[in-house]
Amino acid sequence: MAQKQFKAESKRLLEMMINSIYTHREVFLRELISNASDAIDKIYYKALTDDSLTFDKDSYYIKVVPNKEERTLKIIDTGIGMTKEELETNLGTIAKSGSLAFKKETDLKDGYDIIGQFGVGFYAAFMVADVVTVVSKALGSDEAYKWESKGAEGYTIEPVEKDSVGTEIILKIKENTEDENYDEFLEEYRLKSIIKKYSDFIRYPIKMDISGRRPKEGSDNEWEDYVEEQTINSMVPIWRKNKSELTDEDYEKFYAEKHYGFDKPLKHIHISVDGTIRYNAILYIPEKIPFDYYSKEFEKGLELYSNGVLIMNKCADLLPDYFSFVKGMVDSEDLSLNISREMLQHDRQLKLIAKNINKKIKSELQSLLKNEREKYEEFYKSFGRQLKFGVYSDFGANKEVLQDLLMFYSSKEKKLVTLEEYVSRMPEDQKYIYYASGESIERIDKLPQTELVSEKGYEILYFTDDIDEFAIRMLMAYKEKEFKSVASGDLGIEADETEKETDSEENKELFSYMKEVLSDKVKDVRISKRLKSHPVCLSTDGEVTIEMEKILSQMPDNQNVKAEKVLEINANHEVFQSLKAAFEQDKEKVNLYTKLLYNQALLIEGLPIQDPVEFTNDICKVMV
Ligand code: ADP
Repeated sequence: MAQKQFKAESKRLLEMMINSIYTHREVFLRELISNASDAIDKIYYKALTDDSLTFDKDSYYIKVVPNKEERTLKIIDTGIGMTKEELETNLGTIAKSGSLAFKKETDLKDGYDIIGQFGVGFYAAFMVADVVTVVSKALGSDEAYKWESKGAEGYTIEPVEKDSVGTEIILKIKENTEDENYDEFLEEYRLKSIIKKYSDFIRYPIKMDISGRRPKEGSDNEWEDYVEEQTINSMVPIWRKNKSELTDEDYEKFYAEKHYGFDKPLKHIHISVDGTIRYNAILYIPEKIPFDYYSKEFEKGLELYSNGVLIMNKCADLLPDYFSFVKGMVDSEDLSLNISREMLQHDRQLKLIAKNINKKIKSELQSLLKNEREKYEEFYKSFGRQLKFGVYSDFGANKEVLQDLLMFYSSKEKKLVTLEEYVSRMPEDQKYIYYASGESIERIDKLPQTELVSEKGYEILYFTDDIDEFAIRMLMAYKEKEFKSVASGDLGIEADETEKETDSEENKELFSYMKEVLSDKVKDVRISKRLKSHPVCLSTDGEVTIEMEKILSQMPDNQNVKAEKVLEINANHEVFQSLKAAFEQDKEKVNLYTKLLYNQALLIEGLPIQDPVEFTNDICKVMV
């Protein structure tokens, strides 16, 4: 029979599974049982929406059968089964194709990451078996097929006899090696404890034939061997359990088992509501950003169960975009099982649940911020950007919900601070919340525009994310304090009396001359009130700041929005005296100086110089 090849990526993954030095090999069983449970879910779900099928609860189960003599371990389920095509597509390729390409080889050495992040599920079987056989009969089909693989070389598929619908996975357990003991996966007690540990909440019975010895009935000294089928799992889903019965580890295990993320969750939220709406939910705030989070491929959503049956993998309606990083599941008895996706969107119950969850997430984040600051900052580094997008989008409709969750780097504290913290320590004479925008903290630290505000002793928030200024524009104010860019025309700070140089008639002439030299590049040339040690800077009049201009110009639908730039000159700087002297004697020089100053201001802003060659030539002219 012809051997078929695995898809390239699957093959790579398989090889890693086979060779993995992963110590938690036992999770292979969790993966296979979870697949079996999903397969039963599918048949159960079908039965509920299809009258020709009946779902007799007792005939649906998973059975684990070890056989020491043959060195095999069988995992049998009465689920929906797979057709020949399904065996081919489901087991010949990993579902999450593409995701592997993202990872470096070194990251994948450890099997845990692979299993956790991509949910390679089925392939985990190759961590303990050198031959994997899958015998399956699909619901509604008369034929059964056998899929078999000895590893990376490929697999075969052939017809086979099987009476009942469902799937049997047969693992030929590897021989022990010097360092590895595989026999344990054939031991009843060991299998039992693995099932208890990872699959206790599976909704269907996981059965095993447990053997033992007992006194023979009616006899005092005779014993007999017996074999008895037992259900190993408690079948109570974790979300139906009492919070007090559960440990952090239980929640972490559930997170891993469900493949919600490859990290450890930063926080879990267990909700049980039993009022006008009834639902249970387990939600997680991940610690790390999923690799595709800020990409188009990322799909938000929670798993949705109706009374214990999974009806949707990613119900997007349960989460607002700004909390799209939340993972987890919701189970409600009040949701109809055979509700369609379209109807779900309009479902009143679902809307209520979503609203409720939203509130809960917010309050949990707030308490994290209040009580576990470090953890919150870690969270914020990953997902703060999403919260800021939330403030900005929908025309600011959610700003009230989100504003107290925002943080920005503070010039004074040298760390992230909240708006509440900023406002609460504002000196009485300070009118605005000041911010400075730039590429990085280091760059903003050096911005000349911050000089006056800093000298006044006011705190400045550093905006380094491109969304920051846009979000803040949506907020407009926090606790009635407006936001103000340190580069804006009017800083709302009274200039010191001692600053003598004003816009006298004489200066006015100079400035209008300079303005002419620069023509439409700037709106105005002025004496600066904010500069202390630097000779020159740009500020802006109007709504659009220079940072905003930069960001908008990179947008695909570039509308060519321009900031109204003002060239500000520091009258207390020696350069200004040179300018004035030149204005009296040598207009050519003024032209040169003006261009130089303007280009310097551009450089400080991180803006491109239109003609760099001319600029360097101009500098040379000054030098010789
Ligand atoms: P995942 O379960 O994450 O999709 P797997 O590699 O574990 O990835 O399984 C791939 C697919 O094979 C499953 O999505 C399912 O369609 C199918 N499958 C696996 N095991 C079974 C089973 N016991 N019964 C029916 N289908 C199964």
